[in-house]
Amino acid sequence: MPKGYVGKLLWVDLASRKISTTVLDEGTAQGYLGGSGLGAKLISDRLKTIKDPLHPSNPLCFMPGLLCGTMVPGANRTAVCALSPATGAWGEARAGGAWAPMLKYAGYDGVIFTGKAKKPVYVWIENDHVEIRPAEKLWGKGFYETDERLLEETHRDAIVGGIGPAGEKLSRMACVMFEGKYARSAGRTGMGAVMGSKNLKAVVVRGTGGVPVADPVGLMKRASAYGGKEKQRFKRNFELGTAGGVMGVEAVGDMPIHNFMGGRWTEKAERISGQTMFKKYGKHERSCLSCPSNCTLVVDIPGTAVGHAPEYETIGAFGSMCENDSLEVIGKCNELCNDYGLDTISAGNTIAFAMEAFEKGLLTEADLGGIRLTWGNGEAMIALLHKIGRREGIGDILAEGTRPAAERLGKDFGDMVVEVKGVEIPMHDPRAYWSNALNYAVANRGACHMEGVTFTVESGLPFPDLGYTAPMDPYITDGKAQLAVKMHDLMVIYDGLGICKFYIVVSYGPTIMAEWLNYCTGWKVTPDGLMRTAERIFNVKRLINVARGLSRKDDTLPKRLLTVPQRDDIGPVDPQGMERMLTEYYRIRGWDEKGSPTRERLKALQLA
Ligand code: SF4
Repeated sequence: MPKGYVGKLLWVDLASRKISTTVLDEGTAQGYLGGSGLGAKLISDRLKTIKDPLHPSNPLCFMPGLLCGTMVPGANRTAVCALSPATGAWGEARAGGAWAPMLKYAGYDGVIFTGKAKKPVYVWIENDHVEIRPAEKLWGKGFYETDERLLEETHRDAIVGGIGPAGEKLSRMACVMFEGKYARSAGRTGMGAVMGSKNLKAVVVRGTGGVPVADPVGLMKRASAYGGKEKQRFKRNFELGTAGGVMGVEAVGDMPIHNFMGGRWTEKAERISGQTMFKKYGKHERSCLSCPSNCTLVVDIPGTAVGHAPEYETIGAFGSMCENDSLEVIGKCNELCNDYGLDTISAGNTIAFAMEAFEKGLLTEADLGGIRLTWGNGEAMIALLHKIGRREGIGDILAEGTRPAAERLGKDFGDMVVEVKGVEIPMHDPRAYWSNALNYAVANRGACHMEGVTFTVESGLPFPDLGYTAPMDPYITDGKAQLAVKMHDLMVIYDGLGICKFYIVVSYGPTIMAEWLNYCTGWKVTPDGLMRTAERIFNVKRLINVARGLSRKDDTLPKRLLTVPQRDDIGPVDPQGMERMLTEYYRIRGWDEKGSPTRERLKALQLA
């Protein structure tokens, strides 16, 4: 095996309790890198045998990015991959922290769970020692307590990845959580429900080995250089992490408000901004492993445990989306989501959806179990979140996410749903940046800003590596398809190598990615060659979606974003413009009019 890998995949069949390893071959490694690239290959190879996302036949892959465990700055991402219960198709969710490097230190490039345990279990991995242990006593417990008890039971240096009650109860918005109250969340596409469907409460890892690299001296020099200018630039562009961006994002109309019905939120945005939060409740900053950026805020918000501050997405989802300007309520919702193991984006969207239904009289206090769900009512939000986490009363329906909930509640609810492919839209309003509208429509895991992060380039973040040096007009379609294709492929590289996507603020493009890769593996990959690999991986994920029945009809935006303005000066996304961008995107990709990769393109990508 090339350096950079540790050479083995770990397989744990929860039904038969068989534990085995396989050797990762170099051809597969070069073709799919690691992280969700390798995860896509593993799922694609088994696709015909998977009956349903929540059936034991759906393999659940925990995949460290290729560069995790090395000293490459920002290389620490775990990708959790499977077919998604939210989309019915490709699913992946990623988290930072230290779990991925730890798995590589234990000697594995990935661990794949198959089958379903008869009773709740957790898996303890300590180097060569892999053990399936009972977890009945933890079933029903929140993630914070689970983390604490498993560290006590295994080793204080171990890292826990696991689920809360939401995953156990198969909520389609359940995530996989890491690192207790310092909460790193693999949030999107319901991977926590897949874990729950296997009766798998947690995966606890401790490794004491290392990761060999091909050119340790070169890597050390390059990584040390990062500690200088790039680190300063990172700090300047990303002060207080994502929460530091609340006011700026609101100012340009990128912050969704009132369940995407729009408006302005200038003063309120300041009240819930990272700046206000850090001033009132800040303790210190924190970093993931192998990252000098310290972008994570640790806060002590009254009524919550000291821990990971709400990120921008959480602030938007439980703030402007629900018309709530209380930092304390946002902090509590953040903590509850982390403990129940709920994706904050989807949970906040779902509460906003229910608030709108309440306002319109479609849901009553009686329907909601006595909750008076008016806009901005913090107590009501917290009460409803408990119901969703426990699947009690109306919470049982809402835990499915907005689209399935609307389907069950009736046709009047349909227009209030704001999602793509079953995944609720994040806190970057696509009416503000049309490249993001296209990104949401066509991204492989449904509506997700992190699949493309196109709005950063569109708004002027220079990316000379990809040919972008100036802002683009956000309300025209020209050039947006090309931008989305390039950024989708670039993000596949980030996901395959396990690099944190916040490194986009220092314009990490294919050139530096290829450099890191070559230092670690000894390969001689060019930036273009790496983008080609990314294109192949992107198409493999698309092929999974096509095989699961998705096509052009699913590559669209919800009605609200195509018909309702965001505010006076920002209109809806032009539906004809959307169609034009989509057609152009398909053309560049070499897909047919339905959105399926053509045979010629698959041949060119060595996929046919
Ligand atoms: S930039 Fe922030 S989230 Fe990303 S690796 Fe560094 S500390 Fe973690």
